[in-house]
Amino acid sequence: MNCFYVTSAAKATQLPKLGLPEIAFIGRSNTGKSSLINTLLGRKIARSGQTPGVTRMANFFNLDHKWHIVDLPGYGYQQGSHQSAKQWDQLMRAYLARDEIHCFLFLIDIRREPKAEDWGLMESLSKDHTLHVVLTKSDKVNQSQKARAKAQFEQRLGNQKIPYAQVHAVSSLKKTGIPGLFTAIFTNQSSLEI
Ligand code: GDP
Repeated sequence: MNCFYVTSAAKATQLPKLGLPEIAFIGRSNTGKSSLINTLLGRKIARSGQTPGVTRMANFFNLDHKWHIVDLPGYGYQQGSHQSAKQWDQLMRAYLARDEIHCFLFLIDIRREPKAEDWGLMESLSKDHTLHVVLTKSDKVNQSQKARAKAQFEQRLGNQKIPYAQVHAVSSLKKTGIPGLFTAIFTNQSSLEI
């Protein structure tokens, strides 16, 4: 698999027109987004541990000249200024309007309870796009907790009438759940659960 960095956008006007289907990764900061992108692509291409408060950018990576992986800026920094929250909103709104989006991967730490902001975001991502929910750092819980977390998430998405393609539990550290996720996102999956 050949992948390379293409460009970054800090604001809506900088979003590029690239004409390939995009797989967009989104999650709170520190949720394991960079680690998962690096694990999926098999190389350290996404930068981990970005400092809160610094300019948050959407980073585009080309994959085999067939896809773009889009590393969307993390949200929910407590230290983030009002200005950067506004900038994130504007960038996301513009991003959501793109025709290139193939699917969203919404990442959440398997041990965390989603907040209203997270459910709201999942709902808006799922409106016009395929949504995969990815429970990260699954090595931090045991097998039965993992199965329970996944089942609960599926149930709550159903209760809230949020259409989703699949809920995945993955560990970038132990490389578990990665092949299944890989297959799910790189196939033309258009059927939704609800
Ligand atoms: P990002 O801010 O969402 O890009 O998150 P990072 O990929 O930088 O990861 C944040 C922290 O979580 C780092 O200390 C990672 O080493 C750790 N981390 C990421 N993925 C995993 C995982 O699968 N298991 C465990 N145990 N830690 C992880």
